[in-house]
Amino acid sequence: MPASEAPLEFETNGRGAILRCPCCLESYVHVDDVYMSGRPREDGDYVHVHVDNHGRVTQGDEVRPPLAPEAGRRHSVGLAGTCESCGDRFAIVFKQHKGQTEVYTLAQEWSPIN
Ligand SMILES: [Zn+2]
Repeated sequence: MPASEAPLEFETNGRGAILRCPCCLESYVHVDDVYMSGRPREDGDYVHVHVDNHGRVTQGDEVRPPLAPEAGRRHSVGLAGTCESCGDRFAIVFKQHKGQTEVYTLAQEWSPIN
């Protein structure tokens, strides 16, 4: 899964920040899926949970979450979405590692769940 070194980018509209697509930088994006890759203990096995935009929850080996290129020592949270402008699917991943939160943007290469 390719990762981008680019940080998240936003534009403003007077009401707050608007997320830009990590792929094309346009602002018409939808964040639809949440992935939690929990680790009950440091460096342990992941427990993956997916919540889609209908509120459906899936847990277990069938969940294919976005993960940073290298595993951190603890859990990872991913937000996945689509862009109206370029049509790409992307993920924003927050990875806990040694007391810090690393942020990655990834191009989605996994299949939709359900
Ligand atoms: Zn885009």
